[in-house]
Amino acid sequence: METATQGSTRNDQRGNIQDKDKGKRRFVRRNSRIHGKGVFARMLIPAGMRLMEYKGERITDKQSEVLYADTTHTFLFMLDSTMVIDGGQNGNTSRWINHSCEPNCEANEEADRVYIDALRNIADGEEITIDYNLYLEERHTAKLKREYACGCGKRRCRGTLLASKR
Ligand SMILES: [Zn+2]
Repeated sequence: METATQGSTRNDQRGNIQDKDKGKRRFVRRNSRIHGKGVFARMLIPAGMRLMEYKGERITDKQSEVLYADTTHTFLFMLDSTMVIDGGQNGNTSRWINHSCEPNCEANEEADRVYIDALRNIADGEEITIDYNLYLEERHTAKLKREYACGCGKRRCRGTLLASKR
């Protein structure tokens, strides 16, 4: 298994810290008030910490369209290239991270890999969120925005997981 390095703390992608806090998981999957299952901090996570990698099979845009033609419920992460990470195949806990319009984490792409990094300090027990900022080729119509409705409940919720069109 690949490892990510954050400061002096080495950690694997299941959230295990390998040195002084050995065996203590930093996050856990459980039911979310936002949507279905979510990922929750199990300890204070400091701003800037790299939490995990978004894992999954690499497939092309076209393959994802064929595989998931009939559903909007997928674990796809679009890369800057035409490739997509499918967290539904060989993915890890990160595929359960919910969207929020005011997220506490962000996804950073580095050399075709995606990492989840904390934007601010996250309290023990707080749900871990990122802004999906979904961008679809088709027009972001009102109907489409409703299909991708947001339930984050934040004051500045934009109502949809879709990005504002550029
Ligand atoms: Zn929202």
